[in-house]
Amino acid sequence: MPAALFNFDNSYARDLPGCYVAWPPAPVKTPRLLFLNRELAEELRLDFAAHEESTLAAIFSGNALPEDATPIAQAYAGHQFGNFSPQLGDGRALLIGEVIDRHGRRRDLAFKGSGRTPFSRNGDGKAAVGPMLREVLIGEAMHALGIPTTRALAVIATGEAVYREEPLPGALLTRVAASHIRVGTFEYFAARDEHERVRQLADYGIARHDPELGGAEDRYAQWLLAVAERQAALLAQWMNVGFIHGVMNTDNMSIAGETIDFGPCAFMETYHPGMVFSSIDQHGRYAYARQPAIAQWNLARFAEAILPLLADDADEAVEKATGILAGFGASYRRHWLQGVRAKLGLQAQAADGDSVDTALADDWLALLQAGGADYTLAWRRLADAAEGRPGPLRELFSDASTLEAWLARWQARAEAETRPAAQRAQEMRQVNPWLIPRNHRVEEALDAASTEGDLGPFEDLLKAIKRPFDEDPALTRYAEPAPAGYTESYRTFCGT
Ligand code: AMP
Ligand code: MG
Repeated sequence: MPAALFNFDNSYARDLPGCYVAWPPAPVKTPRLLFLNRELAEELRLDFAAHEESTLAAIFSGNALPEDATPIAQAYAGHQFGNFSPQLGDGRALLIGEVIDRHGRRRDLAFKGSGRTPFSRNGDGKAAVGPMLREVLIGEAMHALGIPTTRALAVIATGEAVYREEPLPGALLTRVAASHIRVGTFEYFAARDEHERVRQLADYGIARHDPELGGAEDRYAQWLLAVAERQAALLAQWMNVGFIHGVMNTDNMSIAGETIDFGPCAFMETYHPGMVFSSIDQHGRYAYARQPAIAQWNLARFAEAILPLLADDADEAVEKATGILAGFGASYRRHWLQGVRAKLGLQAQAADGDSVDTALADDWLALLQAGGADYTLAWRRLADAAEGRPGPLRELFSDASTLEAWLARWQARAEAETRPAAQRAQEMRQVNPWLIPRNHRVEEALDAASTEGDLGPFEDLLKAIKRPFDEDPALTRYAEPAPAGYTESYRTFCGT
């Protein structure tokens, strides 16, 4: 394999010995390319044009790794549903190398489903076609929606069966991430009192994600703040688009601030703050409305892990960390309000307008909930209402009369700004998606791929979700909510 294809520069393997185990991917029986993200490949400066599909299948199955790849299983721990597991790690994943993309950013390429590793515990190290194509769809949707996310570069069918409750077709995905450093990575070494490793990891993380802090005297505290700030911004984006991650364990939180580890995630249909889709989240720990508080809880675990770096004196370190994390709520609300204002077609006001706009948004959400309205379409059709056509919006509510007083209030607030209504509506359509990956369409596509080997529905859906803000009558079937009753019984499964 020509090494020049990737030009790997593997800093994690080079700089952080002791933080991983070098480990090869398991050979794959009959690799076949199911998906290749050519747009992402171009961003990564990977030139696949001269390569046959069979060659690419051999590369992205791990059967023919490039010479400059250094496959490693990364060590990490994590709080899962609130309980600490001191050893998780890459049980079915391998970081194979890093590339510098077109924008000069360092990006990880990692396999998922590449076989057992020393971190596999009782798992088989494998993945199935359905969940890997799901990761493609959700990652591409998040990206198209402008939300920081890991993305899939390739999916390979292995030609082997994976045994879950039933035999399923096996697959392997190549994931691209800003890095795979998780809150749990720090927890792993902190729990072992390996504080020098924690420091090395922090220095590495700062150099990679926040190099401007490198020379600062108080750099670890500033870094905690930067990591928290990224999470606040990310969570605001999730909430505003109705995304429910489903398994916000600390091993699934990236310090780079990307959405990572698409397990039992789903997009909300009918608005409900307590919405949970994951079959394993029986107590609703990771329900929609709890996500910002959970992010803050996870950041507290991160702060604990790096505490010795914040100050020599333990009390002083705790005080610093507490002060930084106390600001998370306000930061989150600032990001959220900024997003919500754009969604409402409003421009920022003087600071004393924050409470007015927050109340306007809260009351709108309460109306959606009471009226059983579809979250995505309600926002989208608010743009029509801005142009004097509230009819399509009203249709979404069980009792549209509840809307009138709020609409009048919103109009009055909007008209205090001088932009023409058409311009306001146009701007609203650039931030309120018309199309998100609807759960029933995702399942339909994965089902066809998994049970019949038919990739058509997956490819059609993928094409649709890549342009979430463009209304296209030909794609209406993807934009419509699931049939009544579907969402109530819809459950997503983890680690599948
Ligand atoms: P996840 O649910 O994907 O975030 O994974 C949680 C932990 O379980 C990580 O340490 C994974 O590596 C591990 N894991 C998940 N699925 C498997 C599997 N099929 N085989 C081995 N380890 C797994
Ligand atoms: Mg995980």
